[in-house]
Amino acid sequence: MQDNQLRLLMFLQDLLMLKKEMEDFQVVEKYEEMGFDLEKKEKIEEAIREVTGQLDAELHHRFQMIANKYDRPLAPVKNGICYGCFVSAPTGSELITQRKDVIEFCNHCGRILYQPGTL
Ligand SMILES: [Zn+2]
Repeated sequence: MQDNQLRLLMFLQDLLMLKKEMEDFQVVEKYEEMGFDLEKKEKIEEAIREVTGQLDAELHHRFQMIANKYDRPLAPVKNGICYGCFVSAPTGSELITQRKDVIEFCNHCGRILYQPGTL
């Protein structure tokens, strides 16, 4: 179930990035040239609502807090290093995110960590 939550968070992060990209004025202009219509933005917002509805409320709240601070609230962790802030995870946390059922946060930057390849 937790693994599923992490997937949802990843999906939500991508949706928010796409929404932001669409909202960027210059990009919107470019989309308009390509025949961009508001329907697409509504579809993204609909997907965001759907994903949010499946997320654990507390986890979603935490995600939002991190999303206010960083564009990408999720960061990959490799060899014990968070690729969001490049600070090593504390000793003893080498198993960080190895367990699929546990959602881990970086102790330094607070991002939600995931092991590349496990999603
Ligand atoms: Zn970090």
